[in-house]
Amino acid sequence: MSDETFSGGCLCGQVRFTVQSPTLWCAHCHCSLCRKAHGAAWVTWVGAADSRAVIDAAAGALSWYASTPEAERGFCRHCGSTIFFRSSRWPGELHITHASFDAAIDRDPSAHVWWDQHVDWAEPGDSLPRKPS
Ligand SMILES: [Zn+2]
Ligand SMILES: [Zn+2]
Repeated sequence: MSDETFSGGCLCGQVRFTVQSPTLWCAHCHCSLCRKAHGAAWVTWVGAADSRAVIDAAAGALSWYASTPEAERGFCRHCGSTIFFRSSRWPGELHITHASFDAAIDRDPSAHVWWDQHVDWAEPGDSLPRKPS
């Protein structure tokens, strides 16, 4: 397994991150919370082990919003980019939006999750499995 490092960040660049391969998983989330938080039909997440992910943010730039009692979402206070998710449901993992990476990573999305909450005005053009949650 190659030892690659993938970088990314927010729109303004005050919140940056690096992830060392391998990442853990990648999936499209269709839940209503992701939809509202990101203003998008669905959000593509990459799971990374905390031990392989480093966040490098300017002082005060990164804020966390508790979207449920168990989970919080990290975003840039300056440009509003929504980048991170972490939850006691997935201890030891940092979830990062695929779109926030600067370039390709080590895996492609493998599934649609929370499909039971998907919108009917946008249709994925793939044949990946569609899981209820
Ligand atoms: Zn920013
Ligand atoms: Zn979601």
